[in-house]
This record gives sequence, C-alpha cells and structure tokens, in this order.
Amino acid sequence: ICWSVTGGWHRPRVQPYGPIQLDPAAAVLHYGQEIFEGLKAYRHADGSIHSFRPEANGARLQRSARRLALPELPVEYFIESLKQMIAVDGAWVPSAPETSLYLRPFMFAKEAFLGVRPAHKVAYYLIASPAGAYFHGGIAPVSIWLSTNYARAGKGGTGAAKTGGNYASSLLPQSEAAEKGCQQVLFLRDGEYVEELGGMNVVLVYKDGTLVTPESDSILEGITRDSVLRLAEDRGHTVERRRVTIDEWREGAASGDIVESFACGTAAVITPIGQIVAEDFTIGSPDAEAGELTMSLRQELTDIQYGRLDDRHGWMLRLDA
Ligand code: PMP
Repeated sequence: ICWSVTGGWHRPRVQPYGPIQLDPAAAVLHYGQEIFEGLKAYRHADGSIHSFRPEANGARLQRSARRLALPELPVEYFIESLKQMIAVDGAWVPSAPETSLYLRPFMFAKEAFLGVRPAHKVAYYLIASPAGAYFHGGIAPVSIWLSTNYARAGKGGTGAAKTGGNYASSLLPQSEAAEKGCQQVLFLRDGEYVEELGGMNVVLVYKDGTLVTPESDSILEGITRDSVLRLAEDRGHTVERRRVTIDEWREGAASGDIVESFACGTAAVITPIGQIVAEDFTIGSPDAEAGELTMSLRQELTDIQYGRLDDRHGWMLRLDA
C-alpha cells in the first residue's frame, strides 16, 4: 500500500509489491531523511485480525517525523493504512501459534536535490511480512555483546526517533557481536549508562520485585516495554524509570540483587537475557535459565495480543472490520 504526499496527504492507493522508482538525487539516499515503525497484526482464534496499540506507533511516527523534519502523518491516516492493507492482504496474517503479520510503515524524502536541507516531497509506504519467532532457538536466553567502542546515538541526536541512521550506526557493532558469538549488542551512553539493544529495550528485575529500566532521551521509547511495565505494575511490582549504569547491573547481578533481566520489543516480544559479554568481564552465564517473572510477563502479554486474555487496558484494535 502506498500513500504519497506532495503538500498534503492524497492519492492513497494499494499497489502490487515491487520495486519503486527513485531519482538518484532523492534526499533519502544522501541524507537519510526517513523514519519507520514496526508493529504486528495478530489472528485471534475466531479468525479476526487485531493490532496492538497502533495509536502509540502512529504517535511515535509523528515524534520521529518532527525530529527528522518530515511532515506528520495524521494518526487516523496511519490506522487507515493498516486497515486497507488488511482489507487487501489479510489472508497473509498467519494463524499458527506465536506467528503474526509484521507491518512496516515508513516515510522518506523523495525530493531530488543536492543541497543539505529538509525535503518537501515525501512518500509514505506500508509493507508487510509474515513473522514467526524472532530468535532462532525459540525463547532461550540470549547472549549480548557490550559495545564500548561504538555508541548508537548521543545527547541531542536522533536516538529517540525511529530512523535508519540509528540502525546504520548499529550495524558494525552488531556484526562485532556476532563475531563474539552473541546474538545482540548492548549500547551504553557516555561509556557508562545502559541504553538499549540494537532493536530492543532492556529491563532489570531486582530481588525485591522492583523492575528498573533506563530513562534516556537517546533511546527508542518502546511500546512493548511500556506495556510490560504496566502489566507488572498491575501485579503490584514497583517500576523505576531511571539512569542505570553498567556497574550497577554488574554488581547487582554478582551480589544477587538483580535476579532477572530481559529485552523487549515488537519483534522479539520479551526475551530473557542469559549473559552480557564485555571485553574484560561477563554478567550472568551462557546457560542461565529464563527468569520466572520474565516468562510469566511474556505469557500475559502474548495472551492479550492473541486474544486469549481479556484486553483490560483496551490495547487491541480490530483491523478487519
Ligand atoms: N529500541 C530499538 C532500537 C528498537 O528498534 C525497538 C523496536 N522497535 C525497540 C527499542 C522496542 O520498541 P517497540 O517495543 O515499540 O517495538
């Protein structure tokens, strides 16, 4: 599906999937003026199709647009694009357990010029792809490489926006992680404060049941994280959004104060962290077991998403009606 904009949202149309034409001088190819979102459509047992908090993705796309000097797509149009996609391609939403249709809305600058300035002509597209479990090997705890040579974003940068440049800067550290035998990379800010993984937020669980997650203006505010923390609060857990140093994590894990940690995001849902591997130390162990709270929050969240549990927060939006 494609919505294109030149001075006003117009001409939305569904087109067959295929290559798109771009002028070689299109601003996105040179200055990276683009933003995107990621969410899923879930098939419930009765066959109906639902998405999870799509208004939050629409609002985040608007925040990303402001940071990248792109026009803000009204949230109603964003939701409408999801519904039109499902109207045409709903059959692609799989029904096997733990599967979904991953939806990738994105907007980019297509105006052709070479000076450095925000473009005025942009395009909005939505593509989709059926998705299974994110990590190979199911939901076994993952090993994470601590990147100390590279930052993903910094103060005043684009870290809080969902824009390709942040991912561009994480590609090399991600391949470094793979060389070290890890599936993911963890970024710090100022060489000290825990930020996030390449595509997921981080949550630590303390012995007293408190959940702690990094507060930072240079990470992506995950919708999964926000939701999981709400579920934990519903159960009576204390949630702290504050700065966390890697030393706090290291010492807390060594002393037994930090008993679980997990990563969360739309693609991976909730994934237990087995170990953090740094140049000169490790936290946890490769054969760590998945934490009990981690797995039960994962179960509760996916039960809501797949319609197996009452949607008490009003998070689900039906897309096929
Ligand atoms: N951080 C980064 C860098 C991400 O790419 C993602 C995935 N969108 C997240 C966090 C988690 O965000 P969400 O829960 O909204 O998918």
